[in-house]
Amino acid sequence: MVDLQGQYKGIKETVDTSIAEILESAAYINGPYVHKFQEALENYLGVKHVIPCANGTDALQIAMMGLGLQPGDEVITADFTFAATVEVIGLLRLTPVLVDVEPDTFNIDPIAIEKAITPKTKAIVPVHLFGQAANMDAILEIAKKHNLYVIEDNAQGIGATYTFKNGEKKKTGNLGDVASTSFFPSKNLGCYGDGGAIFTNNDELAHTIRGIVNHGMYKRYHHDVVGVNSRLDSIQAAVLLAKLPKLDSYNAARRNAAKKYDAAFEDIKQLVIPAKNSCDGICNSCDCHVFHQYTLKVNGINRDELVAHLQSKEIPCGVYYPIPLHLQKAYADERYNEADFPITNQLVKEVISLPMHTELTDDQIDFITNTIIEFVSK
Ligand SMILES: *Cc1c(COP(=O)(O)O)cnc(C)c1O
Repeated sequence: MVDLQGQYKGIKETVDTSIAEILESAAYINGPYVHKFQEALENYLGVKHVIPCANGTDALQIAMMGLGLQPGDEVITADFTFAATVEVIGLLRLTPVLVDVEPDTFNIDPIAIEKAITPKTKAIVPVHLFGQAANMDAILEIAKKHNLYVIEDNAQGIGATYTFKNGEKKKTGNLGDVASTSFFPSKNLGCYGDGGAIFTNNDELAHTIRGIVNHGMYKRYHHDVVGVNSRLDSIQAAVLLAKLPKLDSYNAARRNAAKKYDAAFEDIKQLVIPAKNSCDGICNSCDCHVFHQYTLKVNGINRDELVAHLQSKEIPCGVYYPIPLHLQKAYADERYNEADFPITNQLVKEVISLPMHTELTDDQIDFITNTIIEFVSK
């Protein structure tokens, strides 16, 4: 699904030199590279504070702790996403409220959010799924109206730009009160181990979070709040610092591959190509979608047979995600009503994600698209 060795070749010299330097200096934790990367990412995103941490799941949890959410507070998030989001809500003894998504973008449905709001609702967590921003115009409006926090899960969307209805453009992760991201190796900006970060423009919240990631310490050995231990190490920061200047070109390579997939599948009625929503209309020049995944929907054919066929041809593919969160054993709850999840219940049967990375060649894309078209048209 991804080609990380190929990408490494393009940055090998920078990465190897900085890792060797870190090994010599022994500044493994909180070394200069962590600070350099933090500043570089703040500049790239146009966000005031980036707080690095150990992974994207921690980042979500710490963001919620920083906002002071309390047990019993309701947090609304999407039913169709990776489990990390609902997991940390559960760990903090907050109440997850899963809602349905939009059929075209797969992102959380603002109408479903509004329906789910109660006096206990405190926050909304939109996930910018597969690399495309959720409908932030509508979500921010709902949040403002009901006085709710917006926590963006930007693990799949880093580098994407959201265009507001009034034409204003901002990078995802800089749209709500606070955001989280992951630097897991296969993410659009990935390191060579685990890593994550929290973003915010709020000085006070940033200060609170900097203490939380460090055992609740604001002064050495003075523990003011219950915190966690969540750090990005220097070696991962050096990898990320080498990759960040290339993120836009990495995302352009993904978009380019997506365009070729689109062109091949556009007229195949058994396949639905991904929708691009918050686009400025000239998709060539905007980063409305950074294609963390290239996800098709099948139409009138059996998805699992297509998966088996691709496997038989040694073409990797993925089903993200095969089970709605509200039906997962850990998160099932009698509060949920099947009739509220028609889209997610359908998508889990229809979606299939194709290989997507920065190193895809035209030959590989041709082989993949020809194999799929041959199978679905037979
Ligand atoms: C990857 C991912 C996470 C978790 O990130 P980790 O670094 O693996 O903890 C959270 N949310 C979404 C949407 C993700 O894709």
